[in-house]
Amino acid sequence: MKLVILDRDGTINEDSDEFVKSPEEWTPLPGALDAIARLNHAGWHVVIASNQSGLGRGLFDVASLNAIHAKMHKALAAAGGRVDAVFYCPHVPEDGCRCRKPLPGLFEQIGERYGIDLKGVPAVGDSTRDLQAAGAVGCDTHLVLTGKGVQYRGQGVPPDCPPATHVHEDLAAFASMLLSRDVPIKAPPAP
Ligand SMILES: [Mg+2]
Ligand SMILES: [Zn+2]
Repeated sequence: MKLVILDRDGTINEDSDEFVKSPEEWTPLPGALDAIARLNHAGWHVVIASNQSGLGRGLFDVASLNAIHAKMHKALAAAGGRVDAVFYCPHVPEDGCRCRKPLPGLFEQIGERYGIDLKGVPAVGDSTRDLQAAGAVGCDTHLVLTGKGVQYRGQGVPPDCPPATHVHEDLAAFASMLLSRDVPIKAPPAP
């Protein structure tokens, strides 16, 4: 299965230091929804792995998070794209959970859900902690220079990223790169 794992805030939609707490505060980044649609059309399944400590902090509730994702799914559908699932960590750092990035728990959940080894699966994020989590399970790591990634513009790979991390201007540039190296989808082997 062709699977891509994306961070949400700062990667697909505008990041906010005040947290994205409502559908009104969720704004897609330029080209991001189209990038997901292009991946889908080439046979890639897309899932999200997102820290949402605003839940644990009491800044918004699960109903609000669901409403934000309903807006995202609707906007994606209008762009011809689709995200299969959103995996999120609701905890605050003090909870000591395993799913808050940079720990790899969300990625492990994804691997279990799909029954696949995540080695080599492309993972994209705008924070080094996204890529530390992804790298811990063997993902192919990609940093985008949007959201928190803006601070890394004009540099190489930040030192606290896995060393093999690729750097892209934004999600659109990542998608173009992935599609350019894509091999045509082969027919399944005869039974
Ligand atoms: Mg982010
Ligand atoms: Zn967690």
